[in-house]
Amino acid sequence: DNRKMESIKDMIHDVTVLLGPQAKLKGIDIRIEGSDKAQINCDRSQIKQVLINLLKNAIEAMESPGFITFHVKDSEEAIIISISDEGPGIPEEIIHKLGEPFFTTKQTGTGLGIMITRQILASHQARLEISQNEKGGSTFHMIFHK
Ligand code: ADP
Ligand code: MG
Repeated sequence: DNRKMESIKDMIHDVTVLLGPQAKLKGIDIRIEGSDKAQINCDRSQIKQVLINLLKNAIEAMESPGFITFHVKDSEEAIIISISDEGPGIPEEIIHKLGEPFFTTKQTGTGLGIMITRQILASHQARLEISQNEKGGSTFHMIFHK
């Protein structure tokens, strides 16, 4: 298997290089905060796919310029990678549908991104949690228990 200890900041850096130009076009700045040293045992390309899926959704959700923020928290119990956007947030009535195959609210969406994200995280004994920001927008938390 392809699992080894990988730097989280490195993987986030890679995906921001990849999708930065798309963000820039909408006037979105991507910030990276929190622990520089945190590492997880993972398949690098799979976890990068997770980060790409969530970053792409965050960019697509934002209609006006602002920030997308990655945060890495390394505590005794878990490593948590979160990504917050300043989009409209997710209406209560659809939040439980996220991750159902083909559920999309986009004209040309596939509705597969969150499903694949959940599957990859599950195969890493990790999970996805979604919360709404006080000032609007959503935060997706990837939780890797130690
Ligand atoms: P797709 O992006 O192809 O629609 P996803 O599985 O990635 O499929 O996302 C499913 C749906 O979840 C989206 O169509 C959208 O309604 C909602 N969603 C996902 N991420 C966000 C976000 N950051 N802000 C608002 N809605 C979101
Ligand atoms: Mg998507």
